[in-house]
Amino acid sequence: MTTLTSTKDKLALHGGTPVSPQQLSGIAWPPVDEETAQELVRVYKSRKWSFAGPVEQQYELDFAKAHDAKQCVFMANGTITLQGALAVNGIGAGDEVIVPALTWPATAMAALYVGATPVFVDIEADTFCLDPVKFEAAITPKTKAVIPVHIYGSMANIDVIIAIAKKHGILVIEDCAHAQGGKWNNKGVGSHGDVGSFSFQESKTMASGEGGACLTNSEEMAYRLYRFKHIGYAPKTAQGKAVGGPPADLMCHNFRATEFQAVILAGQLRNLDSLMATYNKNAAILEGMLAGVPNITVQARGKKATRQSYYAWCVRFNPADKTGISMKEIHPALAAEGMGMGGTYGVVYKHLLWNAAPSKFRIQDGACTVAENVVCPWVALMSHTMLGADEATIRKVGQALVKVATNLDALRTR
Ligand SMILES: *Cc1c(COP(=O)(O)O)cnc(C)c1O
Repeated sequence: MTTLTSTKDKLALHGGTPVSPQQLSGIAWPPVDEETAQELVRVYKSRKWSFAGPVEQQYELDFAKAHDAKQCVFMANGTITLQGALAVNGIGAGDEVIVPALTWPATAMAALYVGATPVFVDIEADTFCLDPVKFEAAITPKTKAVIPVHIYGSMANIDVIIAIAKKHGILVIEDCAHAQGGKWNNKGVGSHGDVGSFSFQESKTMASGEGGACLTNSEEMAYRLYRFKHIGYAPKTAQGKAVGGPPADLMCHNFRATEFQAVILAGQLRNLDSLMATYNKNAAILEGMLAGVPNITVQARGKKATRQSYYAWCVRFNPADKTGISMKEIHPALAAEGMGMGGTYGVVYKHLLWNAAPSKFRIQDGACTVAENVVCPWVALMSHTMLGADEATIRKVGQALVKVATNLDALRTR
């Protein structure tokens, strides 16, 4: 045990002065503004609430453009967007879909929904994203698609993943649920792979309660995605005025979103550049404060991130000596300093909501050891909304982390 003399340095958990007496907090989420409120009323009174309304159509164009993609299909959520990306490409029973071990269960559920087998592959210790080398090793003749996830505050190594996928004739679906506004090598996320899937669920960096979108540069795929989510209707067809049926091989659904969601998102899209600028500025401050601090590393940004998006901002604790110390000791110490943080989803195949029978999925090498041992048990994360805080608050966040990371010895239980 290290003995600390000044109360300033002593952990608040042990009676020292906390970095912040109140819990630190970020910006209110989801955002609301008067302009959007008025626009919602206007649309309400217009009686045009669904079925590819004018706001929805414009939003699709604008969202695609903001991510350098040619086509956008707006849908009800960011799970069926993944399902659709697989379905319109004919992926189903007997096929394997590679997904990272660490992601929200929806990424893997999408494979199950089309009758395919999700194959869990390990992640990188620095980015927490799909490990390209292990991805290639997991490919079998049955592999038809890979869904790299740009998770929390990083991006999957998309260039390398796409190159491997091309070599093996595999479809790449980017799961961008955490990455609205992110840019890889100056080009928007979701426009690199064959399809980019986004979620606008209430907690995401663009939020309309529920909602999702697929981006693609393929006119054919956009056409099939539209039919898929629109109970078979072709684009530019009025309700009740279908002229031709959907492709015989495509099972179609009603996965439409409404005009109201498009109104909310259109407002947020106008503000996305400024939100991302704030998040990136504050993330850089935190990275600077934590550089060289022992026992802790910040989740590495995407290797070619020219603008990193953040669903969450993460640190990984990595003490060389792990005797008597775990996040069970670290979390209360952070909370006592005023900076309570959360944990990751954990690996999908151990998630509480994951109930697929073992015969329905596969885990590469029987275990994803980096995800299970190195990343998930040691990550502390905060919502992106914290990155929207003012600089004084951000500096307190950094101070709390530095204080706890440099005093881990005081927290050891043996
Ligand atoms: C939120 C999320 C989804 C699913 O989006 P919903 O809109 O909630 O259906 C998919 N993948 C990841 C990584 C997510 O975080």
